[in-house]
This record gives sequence, structure tokens and C-alpha cells, in this order.
Amino acid sequence: MISNLESSLKDLQTAEAKLLVQTYERNPLLFVSGEGVYLRDEDGNDYLDLLSGIGVCALGYNHPVITNAIAEQSQKLLHTSNLFFHQGTAELAMRLTEITGLDRVFLCNSGTEAWEAALKLARAHAGLLSSEGKPLGTKFLALEHSFHGRTMGSVATTHKLKYREPFAPVMPDVEFVPFDDVSALKAAFSNDVCAIAIETIQGEGGINPVSQEFLAAARALCDSTGALLLLDEIQSGMGRTGKWCAYQHYGIQPDVTTLAKPLAGGIPIGAMLCTEEAARAFTPGMHGTTFGGNPLACAVAIAVIDEIKHSMLLDRNASTGEYFVSRLRDLQARHSLIVDVRGFGLMIGVELDSDILAKAILAGMMNQGILLNRTHETVLRFLPPFLITRDHVDQAIGALDELLAIHTPAKPSDGRVLAGEPING
Ligand SMILES: *Cc1c(COP(=O)(O)O)cnc(C)c1O
Repeated sequence: MISNLESSLKDLQTAEAKLLVQTYERNPLLFVSGEGVYLRDEDGNDYLDLLSGIGVCALGYNHPVITNAIAEQSQKLLHTSNLFFHQGTAELAMRLTEITGLDRVFLCNSGTEAWEAALKLARAHAGLLSSEGKPLGTKFLALEHSFHGRTMGSVATTHKLKYREPFAPVMPDVEFVPFDDVSALKAAFSNDVCAIAIETIQGEGGINPVSQEFLAAARALCDSTGALLLLDEIQSGMGRTGKWCAYQHYGIQPDVTTLAKPLAGGIPIGAMLCTEEAARAFTPGMHGTTFGGNPLACAVAIAVIDEIKHSMLLDRNASTGEYFVSRLRDLQARHSLIVDVRGFGLMIGVELDSDILAKAILAGMMNQGILLNRTHETVLRFLPPFLITRDHVDQAIGALDELLAIHTPAKPSDGRVLAGEPING
């Protein structure tokens, strides 16, 4: 039995193995506090965090703007339910509509809930248009390698079979289109389609942005029938790429977007934003959530947005990200084990030449006190807090450089590269 919160990692591992539904494979690290861009473990070791809790802790740890907002709001009100007004909702909605260019907001508690709201809105909107004499069907077009969350609708639009198949039948009427394939998208599109679902930059799929041509084609197809363009910005949004939403790099507006991960810097929240036209499809009682948009989450999200503006973190993300990517490209030029470097502000992927190597590099980085993770098997993913500096980047680059050198197969004197697995795989 665990009797206090001072339990060691070993006790917790034993207890969790027995008590928890086994949905996660955790790394053997126990964090007890954090400060800035560092996490501290039970033994007092500090880790440079280049993952920020999968893109959530955008302002790092123990940020006074967040701790103050939590302290102040928690002494006033935590929750009222959506049966009543509170002061945070409209304040947050004003900011969210301003930064996204959309008209209306639905607040919820996580990414997948925001995406569910988007899917339900698209179906309801198609029904509304049909009733107005513009018949639209119920089909969603989603992309290969997409990730939109784990609930039945979100997972139905998520490409990976492993996430969908054990739970079949998931929501019907989803067709997957090859990533960034304009002619396949056009061929799959018809009046049967209620929405096209796209992550502007795929996160779990390996840090892949759609092309300008593809996004423009999706926009034009939706415009031709009244179907909705849904852009999932849960990972790429809130300034990570140097703009509030990644679609703003393209100059293309969606009908619906979803935000979550960093929106309240670690307090659970999600938001579905849409145009006035799309919002017509929801009327009171059709959709809702008990906790959604509660006073605490709203107060913290407001504080986070104001701090991003006040400290001009969008520009900073763009320039730190550019520096990070240029240093990674230097590494790529020297290490053949790096296949590709893809970066958009502080959303960065480094594709390596095998999953075994990617695992080994991650473990090596962790040993050196640097946290990141792996996505799409072979891609090292960096989603650092918005507060990292060039010094932090240099530290990560130095560690990566050393590890890649260690894992590079030795060359015989004639210059041939020996075949074989990376060592320590
Ligand atoms: C993380 C993520 C989600 C799901 O968010 P949860 O809060 O885990 O439900 C959906 N879409 C994208 C693009 C994500 O990165």
C-alpha cells in the first residue's frame, strides 16, 4: 500500500502496475516539481524539458502568471456549471475569436472533446443545409496519418488502425485520403461530404504540414458545397508555430478550428471555434458539458493568452524555432542517420533512419537530462515550452551530436559503410 506522497519511483511502479488500467508505458522518471523549462525529479536532478507535457506547458513550470491566476480564481469560484453566467467565459471567447479570426466558441475540457464538438457541428450543419434545400451527406474526409483524439468520433477520424480497430464499430462514414494528395481529395469529394478534417501540421503523424495547394483545394471544395473545413490546431495552435494558428501561415481560414493542449498552460481545457454560419447548427440543448469553460480554466487561459501577447512569444517562437531548425540542419549535414528535419516555430520533428535508433537516442537524451519524445516511430519530436533560449537549444544539439556519433556505424578504411543495427539498440 502507498501511504504517503513521498513514495519512491519503485513503489509507484509496483502500485501502478497493480492498480491502473494499463493504458500507458511510462518512462521511469518521477517528477516532483518544475521551474521555468526544467523539471525536477525525486532525487533533485533537473531535466531540460523539450516536450512540455506533449505541448501543454507552454509557459513552462511555476510561471507566476499561471500560479497567480489559479490562486486568485480558486479563492473566488472554481465551478458554477453552464446553467449560470460567470465572468471568464466572454472574456476568454473575445480573445479566442480575435486570435483565430473565427466568430463563436464552444468551451470544453480536452482536445478530443473539442474535436467531437467539431464533428457533431459538421453533421448538424449538413442536416441544416439539407433542410434548407442544399442537400449534404454525412461523410467525413480525413487524412492518412491523422490524429484527432481517442473518443469514438475522434478516433474514427484518426488514421492508425491500432487506435480504431479494437473498438469497432467506431463512428461510421469516414474516408481516409492520402496525405496532401490533391487529386485524391478531389476524387473523394462530393455532396455526400459534410466536412474535410485536417491537422494543419500533423503532430502524431510525424510533424507534417499540408501544402498550400492542398489546403487551398480543401477550402475550395468545401466552398463549392457548403461542407465545413475543420482544421485541428490542438497541437499546432496557440502560437507554437509563430502564429496563433498554423493556418494563418497559409492565409486560409477554416470554418471550424480546435484548440486545447497549451490553451491554459496545463489546466485541462479545450475550445471549438467556428464561423457564424456553422454555429447556426447548434441550438440550446444540442451539445454541452458539465465542466466546460469553468471559471478556473477560463481564468488561466485568459492569463496564458495575455502573457503570450505581453511577452511577444509568437515572434520569439518563430526566431528560436528558426535557430533550432538551422542547428538541426547543421547536424543533418554531418550525420547520415538524420533523414529529415521538419520545423515550424517550436513544433519540430527530426526523422531518423530507424525506430530502434530513435528509441536509443531518446533514452540517451534522457540519461543526459533532456526530455523529448518520439512520434510516428522514427521521428524525434520537440514541443518545448515557449520560454526556451538559444542556450537550451545549443545544449540539446550538443547532446544529440554526441549520441548520433556514438550510434553511427563505423566506416572501414575504404569508406564503405558497414551494414548493421545501431549499437545499444
Ligand atoms: C493531442 C491531440 C488531440 C487530442 O487531445 P486530447 O486532449 O488528448 O484529447 C487531438 N488532435 C491533435 C492534433 C492532438 O495533437
